[in-house]
Amino acid sequence: MSTVSMAFSQLPLISPLQDNLHSLEYTTMTPVQALTLPVILAGKDVIAKAKTGSGKTAAFGLGILSAIKVDNYAVQSLVICPTRELAEQVAIELRRLARLMNNVKILTLCGGTPIAHQINSLEHGAHIIVGTPGRLLDHLQKNTLDLSELRLLVLDEADRMLDMGFEDDIVSIIKQAPAQRQTLLFSATYPDGIQKISNKIQQQAEFLAVDEVN
Ligand code: ADP
Ligand code: MG
Repeated sequence: MSTVSMAFSQLPLISPLQDNLHSLEYTTMTPVQALTLPVILAGKDVIAKAKTGSGKTAAFGLGILSAIKVDNYAVQSLVICPTRELAEQVAIELRRLARLMNNVKILTLCGGTPIAHQINSLEHGAHIIVGTPGRLLDHLQKNTLDLSELRLLVLDEADRMLDMGFEDDIVSIIKQAPAQRQTLLFSATYPDGIQKISNKIQQQAEFLAVDEVN
């Protein structure tokens, strides 16, 4: 794709998202957003590679928020992150993007927080979960997290998660989700392991990379 700038207004986003992007002064999409959002909104699986700070969170975040049915208090989207700090940053950005949507519930599930508190929050329902592999597996083993209505799954910082040895955990988590779903894989780099895990968890994924010009 060329570097012609693309406005968010060209995307088929619901007005609470368009209006909010306007108030956040997000007018032009970053290259990774322009490259991936049309494909994500079309429901396809994507491997996206773009460097840190390029706006990957809003790329998958707008995809998630477009797919959520707020009337259904079930977990419909899951974002898996390598660390608690990154999961919290993703949740903050999702809440910022969702500001004008009514009653979107976003919950973080990471280690370092008492699991009982999380179980209590889960009982009140959530649409979107952002978590780290270990704690997500704990909840799945305790049957306190139900992924049976999951429709959109995101691996954020996939390269880091592979480096940290989370591949088996991630595959175990995904086994509990419906096979019929959209899966997005975001990464700053593209080591061999990315294609390998993509083959396990995605279907006909489109590889979209932002070229780095030095
Ligand atoms: P990455 O995940 O690729 O490292 P982030 O999603 O954290 O990058 O985004 C980096 C910064 O860019 C954030 O502060 C975010 O709010 C800002 N940002 C993202 N998209 C846009 C946009 N289209 N216009 C202006 N700022 C943006
Ligand atoms: Mg990021």
